[in-house]
Amino acid sequence: MTDCLFCKIIAGDIPSDKVYEDDLLYAFKDISPKASVHLLVIPKVHIESLDSLNAEHQQLIGYMMLKLPELAKSQGLDDGFRTIINTGPGGGQEVGHLHSHILGGKNMPGFN
Ligand code: 5GP
Ligand code: ZN
Repeated sequence: MTDCLFCKIIAGDIPSDKVYEDDLLYAFKDISPKASVHLLVIPKVHIESLDSLNAEHQQLIGYMMLKLPELAKSQGLDDGFRTIINTGPGGGQEVGHLHSHILGGKNMPGFN
């Protein structure tokens, strides 16, 4: 039994507003959106952060990067979007399961 919030979301134990799922990735709307589009994209396997990656994750992370623009466009972000990956307490990471934010549309936050 995992204590990880995002693993519980993937398992369906905690509800989420899912926008995409495949064998490797899960994407859902942030519960506290900072822009009119605010998604979180996560690997299904539990990886704590970018700091926990090793060479075995290379293909998965490449796949995740390729999926980001596709997901952004699926939300109508045709002229661009912002991605953020916070890492560790010094990077402001609050949930310890690797995730990329996708932000765009109206009310885009500043970069600070
Ligand atoms: P971090 O600060 O770790 O990069 O981002 C964590 C994000 O997860 C925050 O933007 C926060 O709003 C979002 N979040 C936290 N708990 C939940 C939840 O239960 N459901 C959803 N959909 N998002 C959450
Ligand atoms: Zn997890």
